[in-house]
Amino acid sequence: MGASGHAANNHASTQQSAHEHHSGLLLLICGPSGVGKTTIVHELIRRFGGLFSISATTRQKSPQERDGVDYFFLDESTFQKWIDENRFLEHAQVFGRSWYGTPEAAVRAELAKGHMVVLDIDVQGADNVRKHMPDALAVFILPPDEHELLKRLRARGREDEAAIQRRFAESKLEIARATHGNTFDAFVVNDTLPRATDEVSAIVAARIAKRS
Ligand code: ADP
Ligand code: 5GP
Repeated sequence: MGASGHAANNHASTQQSAHEHHSGLLLLICGPSGVGKTTIVHELIRRFGGLFSISATTRQKSPQERDGVDYFFLDESTFQKWIDENRFLEHAQVFGRSWYGTPEAAVRAELAKGHMVVLDIDVQGADNVRKHMPDALAVFILPPDEHELLKRLRARGREDEAAIQRRFAESKLEIARATHGNTFDAFVVNDTLPRATDEVSAIVAARIAKRS
């Protein structure tokens, strides 16, 4: 990334706080690759409605993924242009490799309508968003154990074994970073999908009830 690209950056304005209680809930779902975030988030949107924010990334698209659906897949110069145009709520280089960013306009528009918005972002992204939007609810999804996480990474069928092993090693760092920090309101173990989804749903419902 060019000179103006930082390891992590955001420009979320403080405008949000004045209107927080009239706006929708911003939900940050974090957790290691393969833990089941996407699966849980789709079920949450089915239950509560709202928007699953589509991130932009410079990483390569896998054959199973669709541009504009799973991510906006951008080349580095376009990603840099989006940074320069202040189009990101936050952006970060994840594990020193690809860049990821949350396009801000769609998030703001949906929150203004009072709808829930869900971001699937890494721990540094969640940290950055929370600094400016402290009312965001941050939930970290944990695997039941390491063996199961490795199984799920393979089940996605997205990458070769070397990439899977790299993500697996990074996952352990991400879990350590999350559990040693104070970014998260809750940790939920994704043992079985219905149980984990019910637990996250209960956390979301409690927050919505508290705000109203
Ligand atoms: P992430 O978005 O965190 O990378 P995904 O939602 O893509 O993870 O899930 C990774 C794989 O694990 C998928 O094949 C998904 O169907 C599977 N999976 C998700 N939750 C569970 C669960 N509770 N038990 C078994 N498999 C699961
Ligand atoms: P993956 O390449 O497996 O889809 O995602 C890798 C990591 O990037 C995951 O931890 C995911 O949560 C994170 N990520 C995805 N989109 C964003 C984003 O917009 N911002 C940040 N900071 N992280 C993201």
